[in-house]
Order: sequence, then C-alpha cells, then structure tokens
Amino acid sequence: MLDSAIKILKKLNDNNYNAYIVGGFVRDHLLGLKSNDIDITTNAKPKEILKLFEDAELSSKDYGTVTVTRNGYRFEITTFRKEINYKDHRHPDEIEYIDDLYEDLLRRDFTVNTICMDKDEQIIDLLEGRKDLNKKIIKTVGESDIRFKEDALRILRAIRFSTSLKFSLDKDIEKAIYNNKYLLNKISYNRKKAELDKIFTSNNSDKGIELLLKYDLDKELNLNRLSKVVPNSDLIGIWSILDVTDIYPFTSGEKDIIKKVNKALLEDYSSMRLYKYGLYVNSVIADIKGLDKKKVTEDYNALPIHTRNDLDITSEEIMKLLNKEPGGYLTEIYNDLIEKVLYRKIENKNNILTNYIITNYK
Ligand code: ATP
Ligand code: MG
Repeated sequence: MLDSAIKILKKLNDNNYNAYIVGGFVRDHLLGLKSNDIDITTNAKPKEILKLFEDAELSSKDYGTVTVTRNGYRFEITTFRKEINYKDHRHPDEIEYIDDLYEDLLRRDFTVNTICMDKDEQIIDLLEGRKDLNKKIIKTVGESDIRFKEDALRILRAIRFSTSLKFSLDKDIEKAIYNNKYLLNKISYNRKKAELDKIFTSNNSDKGIELLLKYDLDKELNLNRLSKVVPNSDLIGIWSILDVTDIYPFTSGEKDIIKKVNKALLEDYSSMRLYKYGLYVNSVIADIKGLDKKKVTEDYNALPIHTRNDLDITSEEIMKLLNKEPGGYLTEIYNDLIEKVLYRKIENKNNILTNYIITNYK
C-alpha cells in the first residue's frame, strides 16, 4: 500500500509538483498501526491530477478531492488549500488552492494529523505533530475554540482520536468542547454518525462513551440513552439501544434489524425467539446482554426447523387433507405446527404432521 502511494508521489514529483502523504496514514504508521486509506496532499490542482492519472475520479463527498485506486486501496489526493470563513460552523464558504504545504497544514484539525511523508519516506513535521504523538496528546492546530467554531465536527473527531489512539485531550480542547458543543446541532447527522460509528467500533469504545457522557454530548447529539449502551457490543446493537432511527441515517436493512432487536429484547430467550428473529438478531442481543454468543449459535443450529419451509408438509397437502380452499386458517395451522415442532412436541415428519392435522383440524 505504501509502495503504491510512493509511486503516486513520484509521478507527481516527476511532473514538477510537490506531493506528500499526510494525515491518518503517517500518524498510524509512526504508531505502528495499520491504515485502510492514504491521504495525499499536493500543489497539483484537481484538473492536473485528473490528467496525470487515467483512472482518477473526482470524489463526490469532498469538493476537489481526487481518488485514485491501486490494488484495491484508495488514495485520496487533495490540493493544498486554505479554507475561508466558516459562517455555518461546518463548511468553509470558499476554498482557495495554494502552493504552500505549511499553509495547508494550518487548516488541518489536530497536530498529530499534520505529519507528512515524502517519496523517500522522510518525515516532514512542520507543526510539531511528532512531539504530540510521542506525548500521546490530541491538540488542535491553533486555538481550539476558533477551530471548533469553524467546524464543530472537530469536537467529535477529537473524541474519536482520543478513543481510538488512547490519547489524552489537551486542556484547551476540553474547555473548547464545553464552549462550543451547542454547535453540534449545526452538523449533519451523516457526518456525526460517521464519527460515532468509529467511536463505537473502537476497541476502546468504553472510554469514548465515557468522554461523550463526561462532556454532556449525549444531549447535544440526541443520544438520550447513551448511558445505557453496553460498550464493545456489535455496532448495530449499540444503535439499537440508542434507538434513534428517526434522527440518524440508516439503510432500510439496518432499520429493519434495529426494529427487530428492540422487539426481540422484550421477549425472553427461547427457541421461538431464535426461530422468529434468526441468528443475527439473537447474537446482537447476546452481545448487549453479555451472554455467550457461541451458545446462541449452537442453540440456533440445533433448532429442528429454521423457516416455515423446513416443515415436512406443504400448504397444498394441508388444503387437500382438509378439503379446503386457501385461507387464514393456514397461518393458524402453520403457527401451531411451528411451535409444536420447535418444542419437539411432535416430530417434523410428513406422516406425523399429517396425523396431527387430521386429529386437530378436521
Ligand atoms: P482515518 O482515515 O484514520 O479515519 P484521518 O486522520 O486520515 O483518520 P480523514 O477523515 O481521513 O482522517 O482526514 C484526512 C486528514 O484531513 C486528517 O488527518 C486531517 O489532517 C484532515 N481533516 C479531516 N477532517 C478535517 C476537519 N473536519 N477539519 C480539519 N481537518 C480535517
Ligand atoms: Mg484518512
């Protein structure tokens, strides 16, 4: 992955542009952690980058960022820029492309995110990011109060990095969180959720949740049930407890699972609950309740049937037996058969099911 990034840097350099790896990759590399993507910063303009890399694409989410994919890894190339005026506390009103790396680093959020690496893997550290990395501290570039007023999402990013890196928060940041947390309501739920997802999936998530509660951000974020969350649960389990599908964005599939988890949480653990809600929902609940997920999987696999289709009798056969047209009575019979078979009161065998129907429904 680093090899591909260096090739990209070389190509930009060969065409007389400055280019560096910056941000998360360099930070994590120095900490001996793995990264999934690489951010590159350059004085080449988006148009010029697009010309140099045939497969480059303008990213839709971030204005002016060009994405290049190599061996399945994404390289996000962003032109040195200055961001001007943040009237709405989330978007710069204007961005200006510039030629100077130092100025580009000044607009970045935290010192540990400003460390750069060049094509020879040399570290370029213009804002003392390495010092803070060694001290394990998250510090804003410039005054935290100003930086959080420009973009209040940085409050959540500070907590996210403090959580995932196990770094402390600079005092200046703590004060600025209290002063500016009300601005979080200006930030889209999409951006907030992306940071929260990263906090919740961190192996240090209990610390992240603790910090959110410590600064009373649960109220600003509309997460009224945050103190009920069991850290280190499955992400969907955490969002189920938070129960905010009407506020935060979720896919319809996620909403469906969250609804099911909340419904199933009201029922006791049983073969019927395993059957009705399936293995995934029950595993999420096991996580929430701190139960053994392996046992849930074993219990689930041992069920005599997993869907209605597993019953050894068809609706055609039932109708023929009873000499009836289709109707609501079929659901009633099915539910009865499912329960009897699940609890092993009758065996799932065609002749046994047939006899049972004749005895009870004819
Ligand atoms: P990771 O990729 O591990 O989540 P990252 O530090 O690379 O962490 P990204 O969101 O990929 O974070 O952003 C890349 C870089 O862009 C950051 O390191 C930081 O320098 C800068 N950056 C991102 N978001 C902001 C922001 N809201 N304000 C200022 N700078 C930002
Ligand atoms: Mg990144």
